[in-house]
Amino acid sequence: MIIFNKKSDLKVYLQNIKAYKRSVGFVPTMGALHNGHLSLIKKAKKNNDIVIVSIFVNPTQFDKKEDLLKYPKTLENDKIVLESADCDVLFYPSVKEIYNENVVSETFDFDGLEHQMEGKFRNGHFNGVGTIVKTLFEIIEPDRAYFGQKDFQQLQIIKKMVNKHRINVKIKGCAIFREEDGLAMSSRNTRLTPEQREAAPFIYKTLKRARIKFGTENADTITKWVENEFKNHPLFTLEYFTIADEKSLETIQNKDSSKKYRAFIAVFAEDIRLIDNIRLNNL
Ligand code: AMP
Repeated sequence: MIIFNKKSDLKVYLQNIKAYKRSVGFVPTMGALHNGHLSLIKKAKKNNDIVIVSIFVNPTQFDKKEDLLKYPKTLENDKIVLESADCDVLFYPSVKEIYNENVVSETFDFDGLEHQMEGKFRNGHFNGVGTIVKTLFEIIEPDRAYFGQKDFQQLQIIKKMVNKHRINVKIKGCAIFREEDGLAMSSRNTRLTPEQREAAPFIYKTLKRARIKFGTENADTITKWVENEFKNHPLFTLEYFTIADEKSLETIQNKDSSKKYRAFIAVFAEDIRLIDNIRLNNL
């Protein structure tokens, strides 16, 4: 695996790769790699000649300084994981390399997707995400880029950005990878105390129960039920639960049998924020 810290060096390497018409798959990450990331890398390996993974903890997408400072960093282990996954290139730039002295986001219009859910609770988050992903796409110019449905809203927003800005890359959504007990894999899980970790499958269990209820109950009743489930939970505080249209990400009032719906949840275990989602109906 070749490691690049400088975009100019990476670009020179890529000129060669592209001259030979070899396809490039790209997996952007913030590091602290786990099997969820690996599932994206494996998919990229299958469908591309060269796979590039970036590790960059992007400061402009964090609304809370504490969260940014506490974000887990495990670079040496990440390198071993990437080698074992046969990753071809790791791009690991500094903040200065990406932003120079100007650590601010571009402002994007994602046709309202950015105002739902995560956008309501994490101020400026999606401008930060849009900025870093667009910058990385401009440097790498990948044929395909891989994103997890774990961050479903982010995936829809990236698709929107690529469409609106006519960026020539195919966006591939990948299924949520879970621990055996159902907890969605996340770099933040390593920060949970043993007690919080043991209780955390409650989040996915609640989503699965909501999916069953969706067959017979309306969205509002299910939302109130979930809020109640968390009301007296000793370890978790619910930030939001919502049932939304997969396309518009707007909270639904009434079901329409021609639309796909998903339930989305964000929960705090003290200052550790966990998100998850589940498809509610099949068309
Ligand atoms: P992150 O390092 O958290 O920014 O995640 C990098 C990419 O991995 C994003 O596209 C995430 O959606 C994806 N990802 C993170 N966790 C999971 C998971 N449990 N299953 C599938 N994809 C994931």
